[in-house]
Amino acid sequence: MGPLQIKDILQTAPENQSVVVKGWVRTKRESKNAIFIALNDGSTINNIQVVAEPGQFSAELLLTVTTGSCLKVTGELIASQGAGQTVEVKISDIEVYGTADPEEYPLQPKKHSLEFLREIAHLRPRTNTFSAILRIRHALAFAVHQYFNDKGFFYLHTPVITASDAEGAGEMFRVTTLDLNNLPRTEEGAINFKEDFFGREANLTVSGQLEGELGAMALSKIYTFGPTFRAENSNTTRHLAEFWMIEPEMAFFELEDNMDLAEDFVKKVITYALINCKDDLNFLQNRLTEEEKNKPQNERSLPLLEKLAFVVDNPFERLTYTEAIDILLKSKPHKEGKFQFPVGWGIDLSSEHERYLVEKHFKKPVILTNYPREIKSFYMKLDEDGKTVRAMDVLFPGIGEIIGGSQREESYEKLLGRVKEIGIDPENLWWYLETRKFGTAPHSGFGLGFERLVQFVTGMGNIRDVIPFPRYPKSAEF
Ligand code: ATP
Ligand code: MN
Repeated sequence: MGPLQIKDILQTAPENQSVVVKGWVRTKRESKNAIFIALNDGSTINNIQVVAEPGQFSAELLLTVTTGSCLKVTGELIASQGAGQTVEVKISDIEVYGTADPEEYPLQPKKHSLEFLREIAHLRPRTNTFSAILRIRHALAFAVHQYFNDKGFFYLHTPVITASDAEGAGEMFRVTTLDLNNLPRTEEGAINFKEDFFGREANLTVSGQLEGELGAMALSKIYTFGPTFRAENSNTTRHLAEFWMIEPEMAFFELEDNMDLAEDFVKKVITYALINCKDDLNFLQNRLTEEEKNKPQNERSLPLLEKLAFVVDNPFERLTYTEAIDILLKSKPHKEGKFQFPVGWGIDLSSEHERYLVEKHFKKPVILTNYPREIKSFYMKLDEDGKTVRAMDVLFPGIGEIIGGSQREESYEKLLGRVKEIGIDPENLWWYLETRKFGTAPHSGFGLGFERLVQFVTGMGNIRDVIPFPRYPKSAEF
């Protein structure tokens, strides 16, 4: 089935056997005695060196073998003479599938900025950095499915199009087939959505949670792993307009079980990457070390692999929102007026506060619980005091919030009260409310932003660089 991958050829013992290698040229170097071509097919960060003798091929043919061109090479697999690789291919035949004119091909063998590479997102997977990120992204996605499958969860496919505007009102992308130049109107002059495709207003989902809960109320443990969409105009390094979210929902889980699961889950998937993505992680670690070379010693971060091992090996710090506010009130930056935003019980923590707790105070991942009800969603279970809810946010160094979750309110009366309180029409959520009417149960769940996880594992500073084709304000070209 198809040719051997370079990843496998590099692991093969050289016995002068005949091999066929297909891939894209990274570099070509000519010396007096030989022509060296480094080929890569994306199966690994490592290139295979294929070697020809001077004069073996016409100058005309060799001119078309340039960085970015695609080749089929036939030859003998031999032990490498040079340092840096154990095997190489002594070429007997070259077929050029496609050349890449060096005058035009933008990916020349030199350092390109990440900003520039974002403008050529169609080609950036051919770079070492992006191919490494994409392989790690794949490994993490696989580990997610493996983890939940092993733990008895079922993968539930929740809808991408939704008519419930319960969450994140105003942040949603509308889905419509109405003619925008000729909108049907009601007698009052409003847009008549009864004539729209679904007979009502519809949007792209911001979360699969509500439907996920319906699944948990039948299958006990489910998870979703799908795209979510937010039209928030946040031009930050941690927000995308389209991102992938992993949302487990579990019947019979209380907040503590939820925290245990979240912590175990992230540790296990990071461990999977540490075991299975060594070459790529090493490459990214060296890249980051290189980037930080000009920083003073005390401002440099831990090497990537050490940072990941640290997170896997140490328990996350767990504390309540109220305790966190106390720490922030006593903190140096607060006393010296260095925080941009004020601190006090009831505030929605901003990223500077979260980062202080994680990076300066505890120096490890933190799980904050029991937030004020006013700043959290209506479906979170009220605490006994009636002031806080059983929420949990997992905060990571360099990232901030990576997981948001809670124990869900299982009481029909209390949930209905909260729905009305925040001004949602209960009619819109009748199906969600009915789960509390028929066989309700304590249950919990959380949402993990997949790209924020990939960002953490790869050490990339900008979330736009850990998804193949990022969507953000004014950008959907590719
Ligand atoms: P934030 O405060 O960082 O905007 P949020 O409170 O809006 O996050 P939730 O609604 O709890 O986030 O979503 C669950 C998870 O989804 C977050 O913990 C985060 O990892 C991820 N997430 C949220 N919004 C985005 C986004 N725009 N792009 C990428 N990931 C996101
Ligand atoms: Mn948000």
